Amino acid sequence: MLKACYSPRYYAQTHTNSMEKLTAVAEVLRARNMVELVDPGLIDAEVLRKLHHPQYVDAFLSGESAFATIQGFKPWNEQLRDAILSVQAGQLLGAQIAMKEGIAANIAQGFHHASYESGAAYCTFNGLALVAKQFPEKRIFVLDCDQHGGDGTAIFSNRLSNLINFGIFGIRFGCRAGERSLTRYIHPKQGNFDLYREAIFEAFQYASHRDTDLIIYQAGMDCHQHDKYGSKWLTTELLFERDRLVFDMAKKMKIPLLFVLAGGYQALEALVPLHVNTFKAANAIYFP
Ligand SMILES: [Zn+2]
Repeated sequence: MLKACYSPRYYAQTHTNSMEKLTAVAEVLRARNMVELVDPGLIDAEVLRKLHHPQYVDAFLSGESAFATIQGFKPWNEQLRDAILSVQAGQLLGAQIAMKEGIAANIAQGFHHASYESGAAYCTFNGLALVAKQFPEKRIFVLDCDQHGGDGTAIFSNRLSNLINFGIFGIRFGCRAGERSLTRYIHPKQGNFDLYREAIFEAFQYASHRDTDLIIYQAGMDCHQHDKYGSKWLTTELLFERDRLVFDMAKKMKIPLLFVLAGGYQALEALVPLHVNTFKAANAIYFP
């Protein structure tokens, strides 16, 4: 059965629903018996201090200065802190399970806008770069299919030689191409799914040539046609097709894969089924 890291601690009330959606997705998955939930505990703060500027990490842990909420989650509270520490533990445990068993999920976001100095745009700590930092001997390939470019991960790819970021997006968000940062912009109005599919093929070609040890797939849903940031041509069916394609290629190429939810800004009634579809696609490929 598909293992997914999750804990009730992931829940935090914020002025956006971005942490609340995690619990909503996990509850549907549990009710439908689609995953085995694995509680990852809390991450050791020392691990985060190695990834990000220690001053920012300490500010977030204590909540004592305005620096603690620079990523946008306001007001700071202990529930939010523990949610984030738990989500980050889920990234590491999920990566370990995926490298052992081929596939795993973390019912959380990758937080791709967070860079070394601080978090940004509702991303506290970069859970994608975290895996590369924690497993320096492993080649980590981030396939980021959030609608926004992962500018934080791209910056981290300059610092971490075992990290490659491949982003397919419709909003660049300052995400720069670089030696280990590959970007494929597909226009939200004039693009089409053939271009998207082609970009996924390119990503896998690249990942396999680099002897990738782990793909971390950001299965973003903010590119959905009804999302306020979405691409008009990207329907529910095509997003399911995208997820199936990613899982199918990773399985065929025998590259372990950890997936996370990433962005999505519709009301929970519309958004949760989209994220659940990603798990449906994973089960169809890995546990037919
Ligand atoms: Zn996004």
